Amino acid sequence: MGWSIGYDKKRGRDIGYGVPAYCDHPGCKTEIDRGLGYVCGGEPFGGEHGCGLFICGEHTHASEECLQLCQHCAGKRADELTPSPDHPDWMEWKLTDESWQPWRDENPDEVTKIRVAISSAKERDC
Ligand SMILES: [Zn+2]
Ligand SMILES: [Zn+2]
Repeated sequence: MGWSIGYDKKRGRDIGYGVPAYCDHPGCKTEIDRGLGYVCGGEPFGGEHGCGLFICGEHTHASEECLQLCQHCAGKRADELTPSPDHPDWMEWKLTDESWQPWRDENPDEVTKIRVAISSAKERDC
């Protein structure tokens, strides 16, 4: 089964190994993708043990069953992690790539949200 691009309804974001992203560990800017190689719990949406967020190698913890887990699911921290904002390259691509045209037509509100997110991300960089 390909899992290049999917959608996490619970969190309202795109997932899969085709999606560039930042690690969801607080403050971590390591660039990863939202594929199974980085998912907390080792299964789509986290499976039984994980929360389904995406964590870089430096911030994963191995469970007793050798699953990759975020610090919350590994029991190191009580609060669930807050997902990182989408990667700007990904947002840009959703707004410009032809294959996303039907999506843009159907989701004008989402398009506006992404535009705002991109421009505020740019302001922060300056
Ligand atoms: Zn987790
Ligand atoms: Zn990280």
